[in-house]
Amino acid sequence: ENGDQTKEPACFSSVIPGWFSEMSPMWPGEAHSLKVEKVLFQGKSDYQDVIVFQSATYGKVLVLDGVIQLTERDECAYQEMITHLPLCSIPNPKKVLVIGGGDGGVLREVARHASVEQIDMCEIDKMVVDVSKQFFPNVAIGFEDPRVNLVIGDGVAFLKNAAEGSYDAVIVDSSDPIGPAKELFEKPFFQSVARALRPGGVVCTQAESLWLHMDIIEDIVSNCREIFKGSVNYAWTSVPTYPRHVSLPFNIHGVIGFMLCSTEGPDVDFKNPVNPIDDSSSKSDAPLKFYNAEIHSAAFCLPSFAMKVIESK
Ligand code: SAM
Repeated sequence: ENGDQTKEPACFSSVIPGWFSEMSPMWPGEAHSLKVEKVLFQGKSDYQDVIVFQSATYGKVLVLDGVIQLTERDECAYQEMITHLPLCSIPNPKKVLVIGGGDGGVLREVARHASVEQIDMCEIDKMVVDVSKQFFPNVAIGFEDPRVNLVIGDGVAFLKNAAEGSYDAVIVDSSDPIGPAKELFEKPFFQSVARALRPGGVVCTQAESLWLHMDIIEDIVSNCREIFKGSVNYAWTSVPTYPRHVSLPFNIHGVIGFMLCSTEGPDVDFKNPVNPIDDSSSKSDAPLKFYNAEIHSAAFCLPSFAMKVIESK
């Protein structure tokens, strides 16, 4: 199960020897690189290649199919924003579903909300969960919350079978639409999400980079406008180690977007959060590092080129 430890994958050698270079058809012509101190795990699951390495500057790094999923240094930005943007936008979220997110970081963030009674998670790849528990204890700590029910399986099938109107919020913490997450970006999946949400329920999905993937974002927005009859919004944030639009290995300006939608029912004004998160509410939690009310509202401000496309859909 641990794969062939002797063969060096292309991502460790093809740009700068001793560095990891992130290459993907999702961002042709560029390869962000991080200096590798030590490779800690290399395996192949039924779904993807899994690598963990110690980097020189970003702590430990989790890589799936050659693409960085998280680093210890900047994971807070992604996990806090994908979670608190939806959950701080509705009063008293009680039942939350997470699709993907096998590292446990989103669970850690959902668990900060005292109103939440049940957290279901459907992750396709058990190896991601196991590797996270072994190498990223501060992220996988999310699995320890007693409200969590973990199901290993395909999120698409899980949502098809979910009871109608059963969730206050669905968070789709997926990898890119190449490989097992492909269907998580398609219309039938969004239809099942809408079906599983209560009236006025909210969804937040990982929605790629404004700089690189406007075509993917356009499709997601037009599907969501057809399906979600409440509100449909695009937000974004900065995550240094996510894909960027420049090719220099040392120039790091990654961004990641989120699609935030609500179903018909009580109005959800995502830009003005009604459920502020109170750091002091759960004494055992480490404090938030990235999210606050100002950055919540600011996340919905779009650059002009993106506003033009997103608002025309
Ligand atoms: N939390 C990460 C971060 O900080 O950037 C984001 C990536 S998370 C590890 C993405 C997860 O989605 C992976 O663990 C992957 O196995 C999972 N996944 C991909 N396709 C899936 C599917 N169809 N159903 C459920 N989980 C899926």
